Amino acid sequence: MNGKVLGIDLGGTSIKAGIVSQTGKIDHITRKPVVSSMTNDEILKSFYEIIDNFLLNYPDLRNAGIGSPGPIDIEKGIIKKSANLRKIKNLKIIENLKKRYKKIDFYLDNDASCAALGEKYFGLGKGVEDFAVITLGTGVGGGLVINDKLFRGYKGNAFEIGHLPAYNKDLFEKNIPLFQCGCGLTGCLETMASATGVEKYFSYFSTGGLGPKKNKKTFSAFEIYQTAKKKDKYALKTFEIAGVSLGLMISNLITLLNLRLIIITGGMSSASKYLESHINKTVEKYTFKEVKKICKIKFTKGDEGSGIKGAAALCFERL
Ligand SMILES: [Zn+2]
Repeated sequence: MNGKVLGIDLGGTSIKAGIVSQTGKIDHITRKPVVSSMTNDEILKSFYEIIDNFLLNYPDLRNAGIGSPGPIDIEKGIIKKSANLRKIKNLKIIENLKKRYKKIDFYLDNDASCAALGEKYFGLGKGVEDFAVITLGTGVGGGLVINDKLFRGYKGNAFEIGHLPAYNKDLFEKNIPLFQCGCGLTGCLETMASATGVEKYFSYFSTGGLGPKKNKKTFSAFEIYQTAKKKDKYALKTFEIAGVSLGLMISNLITLLNLRLIIITGGMSSASKYLESHINKTVEKYTFKEVKKICKIKFTKGDEGSGIKGAAALCFERL
C-alpha cells in the first residue's frame, strides 16, 4: 500500500471514501447516499459495502480513518447520535468494523476535527501552529489546532461551534427570527450559517415569513447561491445573516484564542463572495485591532475530497 490509507467521511447526505497517499492524493472516490431515516444497521451495511469494495482492489489495506458527525466517543469508537442522521443511536462503529475486518486498524473522530487535521497535513494549515477550521455543510462544525496538535477535549467533542449561540443585537435589531436547531437549542450558529439554515431563512424571507407553502418548491443552498448572483434581495439577506453570525463566532474565537488563521471550508464556503464582507465587518467591530491584525480568514475552494483526506489524516497522525 506504500503508506496509503482509507479515508471515510460520513456526511449528512452521503458516505464518501477514498484511498489517500501521504501527500494527500486520492486514488479514487466512492460515494454512497445516506438519508436521515437510516438506522445503525443500515449505516453499518453501507460501510461494509464500501470497505468490501475497496478491499477487492487494495487487499493490503491496514489503516482506515472515519470522520463522523458528533457527539461521538473516540475512546470507545461510538457514534452516539447525529443531528442530521436522526436514527443513529450509540452506533458501535469501530467494534463492528473490527469484528469484520481483523487486519485493519480503524480510527474515529469528529468530522470537523478531521477537517482540521486535513488542513494541517494537506491544506491551508500546513506549517501554522494555531488555527481553527469552520466547516459549513448540512451542519456547522469546528476543529482546533493548538501548538501544532489537534485539540480534542475529553471524549473528542471539543469545539462544537455549530451549537454555540451566534445571535446578537445586530441581528435582533434587524428583526431576524430565530429558528430551532437540530440539537434542540435556538440561535446556534448552525441555524444561520449551514446549508440547512440558509434554506430555512431564504424560504422565510421569500414567502413573507410564512415558510414554504404546501407543494411549493423549496430551494437548495446552491440554488440560493445562484439566486444571489442575480442580486435577489432575499438571497442576499440570507447570506448576510450567515455572514454576520459567522463573523460573531470568529470574533469570539479570535478574542479567546489569539489565532493566526481561521479556515472556512465545506460546501457553503463556495459562497464566500456573499459572506466575506459581512464576516469582515463584524470581526472589525467585535475584536481588538492588534489581535485581529495577525489573524487571517481564508476560504478553501470546496475540494470534494477534503472530508476523505481529513479522515485519512487520522491515520497519518498516528503512523
Ligand atoms: Zn444547535
